[in-house]
Amino acid sequence: MIPAAFEYHRPKDIAGAIALLEEHGDDARVLAGGHSLIPMMKLRMAEVPHLIDLQDIAGLNGIEVAGGLVTIGAMTTQADIISHGVLAEAAPILREAALQIADPQVRYMGTVGGNVANGDPGNDMPGLMQCLDASYTLVGPEGERTVSARDFYEAAYTTDRADDEVLTSVSFAAPIGGYAYVKQKRKIGDYATAAAAVQLSKDGGTCSAASIAMTNLSDTPVWSEAAGAALTGTSVDGAAIKAAVEAMLGDIDPTEDNRGPVAFKRHVAGIVLSRAIERAWSRA
Ligand SMILES: Cc1cc2nc3c(=O)[nH]c(=O)nc-3n(C[C@H](O)[C@H](O)[C@H](O)COP(=O)(O)OP(=O)(O)OC[C@H]3O[C@@H](n4cnc5c(N)ncnc54)[C@H](O)[C@@H]3O)c2cc1C
Repeated sequence: MIPAAFEYHRPKDIAGAIALLEEHGDDARVLAGGHSLIPMMKLRMAEVPHLIDLQDIAGLNGIEVAGGLVTIGAMTTQADIISHGVLAEAAPILREAALQIADPQVRYMGTVGGNVANGDPGNDMPGLMQCLDASYTLVGPEGERTVSARDFYEAAYTTDRADDEVLTSVSFAAPIGGYAYVKQKRKIGDYATAAAAVQLSKDGGTCSAASIAMTNLSDTPVWSEAAGAALTGTSVDGAAIKAAVEAMLGDIDPTEDNRGPVAFKRHVAGIVLSRAIERAWSRA
């Protein structure tokens, strides 16, 4: 399939990208790895008369771990995350999740910024970032602002980002304790039928804190505060895991599609979350 004609822009700095976004308004979109946007354009589900490629803009790439804070530039690829040893030590859940995204070819191109800004409920990084309580930095004509990942997603493909803003980085405190990202998909390279991100802390034999987020089970990622609370203060035994699953099921709202009917998705959500909690607890 061939996309509709578009004009290709390649600004050298953020100011240039923002100026183009302001000039062309709804007719312009930024291009990162292109592995969500270009397929949409080829399928004619998105028509973008002005494509603004971010690849020449300095400062959007790279991973920094300093003073307990992890910062990842928007143009950092999923492959960069997988191969970064310091990041794997500081926040191993990122590598575990990135390895389950698509296939190596997609991961060499797909960026963290594109994955979290896209707004597709099937993307894995938004739920992961909610689990980690990450913040997104956005730059627009009015300057820079940060938004919590937990407040960013409004509906499918609708986020808090204004049309003339570029997401420049994500950052979060290096997590402590056990972690797991468990994803069920129909085949290698597929988006999740359901996925669970779990990060929890252990104090003696007790769970002292837990954060849980789910992917592709609503029109936005779902950070389930109630599911985390159901584990906190428990020994993460069978009853606590069951309570966390029940709480999570109260927060999701899946719809039927080619990955299955609602009842099946709710069943799979429970399975992936139980497994993620057990794995995270065993690593805590
Ligand atoms: C076969 C296949 C399988 C896939 N499977 C998965 C999967 O299992 N899990 C998963 O999470 N993803 C999956 N993907 C999507 C892939 O991870 C994408 O690369 C990713 O979602 C988008 O990143 P990108 O850099 O390619 O963004 P692009 O496609 O370039 O952009 C996506 C959207 O985000 C906007 N955008 C991009 N960067 C920025 C920015 N810095 N600031 C503001 N807006 C921005 C663009 O304007 C566009 O609207 C798959 C893709 C393919 C082709």
